[in-house]
Amino acid sequence: MWRSFDHTFQRVLTLNELEQYRKRSPEQIKKEDPELYTRISQDVKAWTDLWIHHVRTAVVPLPEKRLAAAHRTAERVDGILRDHFRARGWPYRPLDVVFLPPQVFLDETHRENLTAGMFIPFYPDSIFVSVDWPVPIELVLVHEILHYNKTGDVFGRPVQEGLAETGARFLVVKYDLLTTRSLRRLDTYSTERKGIELVLEAIMKRTGKSRDEAVDLFLGAFLTGNQDRMNEIFGDQTWERVIKLSNTRGDWQTHRIKAALGE
Ligand SMILES: [Zn+2]
Repeated sequence: MWRSFDHTFQRVLTLNELEQYRKRSPEQIKKEDPELYTRISQDVKAWTDLWIHHVRTAVVPLPEKRLAAAHRTAERVDGILRDHFRARGWPYRPLDVVFLPPQVFLDETHRENLTAGMFIPFYPDSIFVSVDWPVPIELVLVHEILHYNKTGDVFGRPVQEGLAETGARFLVVKYDLLTTRSLRRLDTYSTERKGIELVLEAIMKRTGKSRDEAVDLFLGAFLTGNQDRMNEIFGDQTWERVIKLSNTRGDWQTHRIKAALGE
């Protein structure tokens, strides 16, 4: 997809714009040059909408009923999270959901590379989600909405993925969207989640709070970007060490996390 955009951009953008588009990430362009971002994103949206229509109707026809049911699920998840965020004073940005046939997400040459949701660079404020397979819509949506609503870039990728997934699992069970039993069969982000569990256990041990409250605290730090509570619980230096581990490639490992936590 990247490549086909690139080809078309060669005709649409000036040479300077094209170079910026190649060098900078969509987030960077959005911040530094909102006008260029808008231009690129309008084109991407128009082409992608054509593609969506094509895969939904010609490639793998999606029944209207199935699509309507999926949209009702998305609305329910949105309402639940909106209230959950409001009750905690966390800012909430809703995410548009585009449902696609599962086949679009299957890479035939790498069958192990399963993904159930994706963002398309420059396509504004939307998540593309597979209808029902391989991971339940409810879990994918909560996971992606948590990602989308994070503030700042405090944590590195393993904490972002592990915490979005741990938080999503906690919330879908709390609000009766899925059962604990149905989650047991899914091993999504298991390595990243292992590290998150260590941090949660340490929070519980230091504060005497429940696991639910610990998840809430860690999610709050992720969503608001404010680390005050975590610094209070762990001390600035310890918490800084944990954050650093998540930002250094390959370092999010249980023995390192334990050492950073002083355990
Ligand atoms: Zn994710």
